[in-house]
Amino acid sequence: MTTVQSMPRRRAAGRALPAVVHPTADYQKIAGTRFGVTTFRPGQRELIEAVLAGHDALGVLPTGGGKSLCYELPALLLRGATVVVSPLIALMEDQCAHLTRARVDAARLDSTRTCREEHVLEAEIRHGEHPLIYVTPERLSTPECRAMLRARGVSLLVVDEAHCIAQWGHHFRPAFLRIAEAAEALGRPPILALTATARSDTSREITEQLGLRNPTIVRRSIARPNLSFEVVRTVNDDAKRDVIRSILARRQPGIIYSATIAKAEELHAGLLAEGHAVGRYHGQLKQRDRVDQQRRFMSGETPVIVATKAFGLGVDHPNVRFVVHHEVPDSLESYYQEAGRAGRDGAPARATLLFRLEDKRTQSFFLGGRYPKRAEVSRLLSTLALIPQGVDLVDLARETKTPERRTEVAIADLQRDGVVHRHDCGRVQLRSPKFDRAEAQRLSESYDARTVTDHARLETMMHYGTGTGCRDATLRAYFDEPTKEVCGRCDACTVRTRA
Ligand SMILES: [Zn+2]
Repeated sequence: MTTVQSMPRRRAAGRALPAVVHPTADYQKIAGTRFGVTTFRPGQRELIEAVLAGHDALGVLPTGGGKSLCYELPALLLRGATVVVSPLIALMEDQCAHLTRARVDAARLDSTRTCREEHVLEAEIRHGEHPLIYVTPERLSTPECRAMLRARGVSLLVVDEAHCIAQWGHHFRPAFLRIAEAAEALGRPPILALTATARSDTSREITEQLGLRNPTIVRRSIARPNLSFEVVRTVNDDAKRDVIRSILARRQPGIIYSATIAKAEELHAGLLAEGHAVGRYHGQLKQRDRVDQQRRFMSGETPVIVATKAFGLGVDHPNVRFVVHHEVPDSLESYYQEAGRAGRDGAPARATLLFRLEDKRTQSFFLGGRYPKRAEVSRLLSTLALIPQGVDLVDLARETKTPERRTEVAIADLQRDGVVHRHDCGRVQLRSPKFDRAEAQRLSESYDARTVTDHARLETMMHYGTGTGCRDATLRAYFDEPTKEVCGRCDACTVRTRA
């Protein structure tokens, strides 16, 4: 089910009109020849047409729901450039690689290039090359970047992962708040905001913060009629292993998610010893190993993969038959996103949560260290203010008597929040030469608030595990799609049927 809300339109004065180079009707043909798409997924057509007609739009499409086609395709049809603001460099790299295969000339503006490469790229953009330009929100905040893009001419501004704008969400990125201002500086092209986060309070915040004008809102239902959810209460790891064995005997391929790397390794070794063809994936493997593990899973060589949450972004494996969570994840958002990797082909699939109350401790522990503490923020920023030329991260850790790992985490957050800059050589420097106590205070407050929100999300996840109602209905209610219907497939529904 897809809902499209359209409001009566009034064109705002002075708004840049997108000039469509090709007749709009061509887009279906181009979808086939360039992207191999013959049938559009729900919601795609509405968003593409809205964008080509020059309207603002907000697309709430699940991960794997084909969000990127909604701007890749228009990018080939619009006269000016399509600029995509994306928070993740890794995701940008993936998308550019995929576009190269589709013969679409895309460029990336991020921090991974040398000065020389950067100059060449800027000259090309100014000369009108690259119909699709990816940019980080931080880069888009700079006057130089805005001037260059304005000179190029922008027909569409896309905000990918737009939930990063939600003030208290744990993906919040302050630079996202400056996108509306950037849009004005670019001549206010139509804006397309895309997110997989389905809660309606987030949609409202995105619309307000980006200043969307009468947007076409396309919201795809989160219901997945082929996916059955189940929660299995398990007292210990042996009980969990028994459940996994019985799942492996019935259906494959599948993904087993674990909350920690250590547990993922242990599970992987155990299943290998039992003779299963199983791979593993987590953040401590070398990049080359990760690519290899992912390839073997995709090709079916190892039909089962034990992974941490590091696995999944950009993985489009349609016929995954099960997803098991060995421990509760940190939120229903994470759970729904990860479990939703099963059954993308529409055939029956199962999402199993192996639930144990004590496992909450693991997630609470992670949440406790996710954001820098007040004292750390203040110590790091005041020290950096004394060293205007910047300092190596290792030296900074020593100087502030903060463990290296904590310093790394805190600097990553402060960099994302636009307060410090970390050079490629590892040198860390304040963005503004003066240490601003009020700014440090404001940041600390926002980290505290994010921690509170994160704990509330974990509580909701625990309620899902202990709850006895239809799993499907519980998830839909959480994602603001309340329903009186029960699914008839989940563990709660089938117990009722049997009783
Ligand atoms: Zn149900």
